[in-house]
Amino acid sequence: DRTFEGLVALVTGGASGIGLATVQRLAAAGARVVVLDRPTTDVPGAAMTLTADVTDDGAVVAAVTRAVDELGRLDVVVNNAGIGAQGTVADNDDAEWARVWDVNVVGIARVTRAALPHLRVSPSAAVVNVSSIAATAGLPQRALYSATKGAVLALTMAMAADHVREGIRVNAVCPGTADTPWVGRLLAAAGDPAAERAALEARQPHGRLVSAAEIAEAIAYLAAPANRSVVGTALAVDGGMQGL
Ligand code: NAD
Repeated sequence: DRTFEGLVALVTGGASGIGLATVQRLAAAGARVVVLDRPTTDVPGAAMTLTADVTDDGAVVAAVTRAVDELGRLDVVVNNAGIGAQGTVADNDDAEWARVWDVNVVGIARVTRAALPHLRVSPSAAVVNVSSIAATAGLPQRALYSATKGAVLALTMAMAADHVREGIRVNAVCPGTADTPWVGRLLAAAGDPAAERAALEARQPHGRLVSAAEIAEAIAYLAAPANRSVVGTALAVDGGMQGL
């Protein structure tokens, strides 16, 4: 598969979980992949690993500039960096709302804004935003997180409309519960991690957690140059959670 031969992709949060699987998937199909993440060691398979927090506009602009200076172009942006928040609206104060919103929503605007001049001159420009089943499923104890992921969907549709005539396709992926270090941390914090995992698996219609590689596959589909009419969609990879 040489789908991404000659193209440069940037993956935020590419050092772990869904981001890491996406780096490996796109690199295996010929892309040179730039990881933009918080402090991290070099990511295997990545052409460049850059330290930047998506909440720091100066660092984001500097990272995108450096990537394009060294690799010569930027064609695909995967806005994957995200953080969780638990609780009802009673549990998160304004500072927590601002902190999580800044990463999950404004982070996408910031990274895309920095990338846009380069995407505009790419013949194969695509942006994939990572939303979540939480955007539409009405999950309990996830008020703030769900609000950010719903905003990611709305932002995706608005960005798709704004940039399709510039030749930039914008789409979203909505993962179900995925087997990543993030979920591993949540399970580890539970009293009986093995029982908690079994309960979590039992809640999935297909009886298992979604793998990061499966989500990376959907991201690769949405980003692939051949799928040039796929614009403004949200692709669920959730074992049927929302459809059943
Ligand atoms: P993860 O915690 O394993 O990896 C997230 C990566 O993002 C980490 O490398 C982290 O350093 C990076 N990151 C976090 N905040 C950042 C910031 N401010 N700036 C730069 N990088 C930052 O998580 P994951 O499970 O792979 O989740 C990735 C994305 O998928 C997130 O947007 C998450 O909301 C979404 N998602 C995950 C699941 C799931 O079940 N794991 C389900 C639906 C959606």
